[in-house]
Amino acid sequence: MPRYVPPLRDLQFVLHELLEVTPALQALPAHADLDVETINAVLEEGGKFAAEVVFPLNQSGDEAGCHWDRETHAVTAPAGFKAAYAQYVEGGWPALAAHPEYGGQGLPHTVNQCIYEMLNSANQAWTMYPGLSHGAYECLHAHGTPAQKALYLPKLTSGEWTGTMCLTEPHCGTDLGLLRTKAVPCADEGAPAGSYRITGEKIFISAGDHDLAANIVHLVLARLPDAPAGSKGISLFVVPKFLIDDTAAAAGGIGAKNGIFCGGLEHKMGIHGNATARMVLEDALGTLVGEPHKGLQAMFVMMNAARLGVGCQSLGLTEVAYQNAVAYARDRLQMRALTGPKAPDKPADPIIVHPDVRKMLLTARAWAEGGRALAIHTTLMLDRELHHPDEAVRREAADEVALLTPIVKAFLTDNAWSATSACMQVYGGHGYIREWGMEQFVRDARINMIYEGTNTIQSLDLLGRKVLADNGAKLKKFGRKVAAFIEAYGVDESMQEFINPLADLGDKVNKLTTELGFRAFQNPDEVGAAAVDYLRVCGHLVFAYFWARMAQVALSAQALSKQSGAQADPFYTAKLATARFYFAKLLPETASLIRTARSGAKPLMALDEALF
Ligand SMILES: Cc1cc2nc3c(=O)[nH]c(=O)nc-3n(C[C@H](O)[C@H](O)[C@H](O)COP(=O)(O)OP(=O)(O)OC[C@H]3O[C@@H](n4cnc5c(N)ncnc54)[C@H](O)[C@@H]3O)c2cc1C
Repeated sequence: MPRYVPPLRDLQFVLHELLEVTPALQALPAHADLDVETINAVLEEGGKFAAEVVFPLNQSGDEAGCHWDRETHAVTAPAGFKAAYAQYVEGGWPALAAHPEYGGQGLPHTVNQCIYEMLNSANQAWTMYPGLSHGAYECLHAHGTPAQKALYLPKLTSGEWTGTMCLTEPHCGTDLGLLRTKAVPCADEGAPAGSYRITGEKIFISAGDHDLAANIVHLVLARLPDAPAGSKGISLFVVPKFLIDDTAAAAGGIGAKNGIFCGGLEHKMGIHGNATARMVLEDALGTLVGEPHKGLQAMFVMMNAARLGVGCQSLGLTEVAYQNAVAYARDRLQMRALTGPKAPDKPADPIIVHPDVRKMLLTARAWAEGGRALAIHTTLMLDRELHHPDEAVRREAADEVALLTPIVKAFLTDNAWSATSACMQVYGGHGYIREWGMEQFVRDARINMIYEGTNTIQSLDLLGRKVLADNGAKLKKFGRKVAAFIEAYGVDESMQEFINPLADLGDKVNKLTTELGFRAFQNPDEVGAAAVDYLRVCGHLVFAYFWARMAQVALSAQALSKQSGAQADPFYTAKLATARFYFAKLLPETASLIRTARSGAKPLMALDEALF
């Protein structure tokens, strides 16, 4: 049986020692009263819920999958999912980071991020049901009319209703400009103002139908009759599974079924417990969100939230895979250590003595702990973007979130794929066998590189839109943070092993960016050829920065305990060893990535299409 222990100590290290989030959040009027005790208490309770309620459903949910009824079109989630969701709602968890005016608790996204990491470790498939509601909430909060907000936000906040995002169609995924779903104005008597009838087919809709909540709020992209072709002609609509007429709303209930239903479920590699639904819209009644033809911009609020959410899914999987692989490596006896027996009383040594097994474990650990620091930092910037009283500070924070979002999405999900795979390798053949649970983590991790914009699309977004489009302004701003850290600790002897490679990589990223900008000017294919490698190099720059900072905090803590004569906390010993591992064994990957990024488009484009 797999296991999961919420990593509370490391979460608290990142929150309170590395990022000092409490004073940073207290500077925001919305969170002025927040304190460390509240944050820690919420984490503890959230961890308990994840480990005790959601985690036990992970393997059974994977095995059972979801059930679709051909007659009624109703979808039933695996056994136990509905009861766990009811407990989640009962505990007020969906309301954690929602606004108090809609019934929310008004806690920062930073805290919610930590809760979601633990939920994703426990059960990614289950977590997607409530997870998508947050993006729907944010999108309606930013672009909804007062009536839409009044109707939907309290229900999404309480968790009585959940949300979905309906973008993909059979012929269009990445290129949403091709979408065909149609919306025509509806003049029916009794229909809410600004109503439309929507017809079309959406595929691969996560949590598209299920039995966990009383109603589902679908955010649907469609075209109006006068829409210009391409992505400039897409509008956004909110389409409830059950209509809410005035009588039903007054009675606190829901009305008749709307013209949107599940036409079937996909059979897929992982996340079996989450319903991936084909959604059919037949004259479904919906209302316009935001302005006509500007739906894609409005949807980006949800997409950006979901991109950070997907990075968080992979962070969760990396952590849980690591924990299980360590437990197995301590237990499994095979061969003797090359340096002589380490457990002479046993027939063989535990495999954790072997250097390559350690490399696999430390790889997963370094990706998990580095990813946690990056994910929490990015969410802290998001809280600042949303709530800081100074507009200039809000804009700075928004720029950083924009720059880091594709890195969180793509770097963390690529790393989780290699980390879960490495953890499976630690198990040898047993990793490939279902009962151990490890192969499920690998299968579940794979989708995170694909949905919410494939990792290639994230890379193009980073290099093309976030870096080259503003002449590297956002990247330079982040670079100034890195430079300030280097300046502060560059003379500290004990920090040289971290500062030197960080500074070196910073210089190389600058040079690479300038070179790619120049080449892109001559041939746009150069961007497409270099983007994926470029994102990984930038991911390492960000990780190197956070790992160097974590090393600095650990060294300071060790120095303090030495001064006071107290015994050093082994937590910091482990943090430093993992930092050293990261710089010695993972960061050097950047040398080959930079070479391949620089090798250009020619080797990719030279072969005639007919010769493939
Ligand atoms: C389990 C699951 C859940 C999902 N959940 C949702 C959901 O809730 N809502 C929703 O709307 N969608 C959802 N999706 C759809 C998902 O977001 C899309 O599958 C994804 O965006 C890719 O689109 P596609 O599958 O059509 O691939 P395509 O767009 O056909 O792309 C195929 C390949 O071409 C590459 N490619 C395309 N254009 C370019 C380019 N310009 N440059 C370089 N490479 C390019 C892609 O990176 C990819 O490798 C889900 C999918 C799955 C499998």
